[in-house]
Amino acid sequence: MNITLITGASRGIGASTALECARRGMGVILTYNSDAEAAVSVVNRIRDAGGNAVALQLDVSNMSEIAAFRNDVEKALRQTWNVEKLSGLVNNAGYGLYAPIDSVTHAQFDGLMGVHLKGPFFLTQALLPLFSQGSSIVNVTSATTRVATSGLAPYASFKGALEVLTRYMAKEFGERRIRVNAVSPGAIRTQLGGGLSAEFESLLASQTALGRVGEPKDVALVIASLLTEDGGWVNAQTIEVAGGYII
Ligand code: NDP
Repeated sequence: MNITLITGASRGIGASTALECARRGMGVILTYNSDAEAAVSVVNRIRDAGGNAVALQLDVSNMSEIAAFRNDVEKALRQTWNVEKLSGLVNNAGYGLYAPIDSVTHAQFDGLMGVHLKGPFFLTQALLPLFSQGSSIVNVTSATTRVATSGLAPYASFKGALEVLTRYMAKEFGERRIRVNAVSPGAIRTQLGGGLSAEFESLLASQTALGRVGEPKDVALVIASLLTEDGGWVNAQTIEVAGGYII
């Protein structure tokens, strides 16, 4: 049984990815930060459809939680599926913050770095011994690493660093036969940063070749395929999933 761990899967892209993974027969460990109720409802949707999932709490930016979290993951693997190993990890948890460079505080900078770079780095490090050979890791980045967007400098910089880290992980984990890729969404209709206003959404749609903003499922389908053998020869790549945003 293949088990994938997805961070920040109480809603949005993470929740949709959890559902797509379950649809492909994977067991899912999904994490939430603050919204346990939403996470349980994703677990229930997966179970109602005949799959199995477990929800665990994790603030990925809190380094002091990571060792205990790894123990929780090991326990969930044994108790729920009677296995020892993970086959996938999606570093998806995150939040957006609009702040022009001249206004960014140290706390805002550190908060974004914790969730988008330091968290994925040390969570992946902690879980490394739990991956089976042939595992797949997907880091969720952002098309803002390609298209400079005013007000998103720290967010986009850490996402850019995560794309570099993706290649380094692929290099170092190759001998364990672990693939590592980044999926870089364009604007997706979720609650990130408070969600998209109708006006902003129509501007983004007009800047996108396919004429609309993305839905969580548009991204989830690509992430899920990278976690299966369909993506088995894709490694060390950043795949933009943005419908042709500003091309
Ligand atoms: P949502 O706001 O819909 O969901 C964010 C998820 O991340 C929630 O499950 C939330 O948990 C969790 N989360 C937030 N902070 C933390 C934290 N400190 N520790 C653990 N979990 C946390 O966002 P999206 O689905 O849109 O975003 C998913 C990823 O996609 C993010 O990395 C985002 O940067 C990226 N992305 C999104 C784009 C978009 O347009 N939506 C575009 C490009 C990239 P809870 O609710 O329980 O607190």
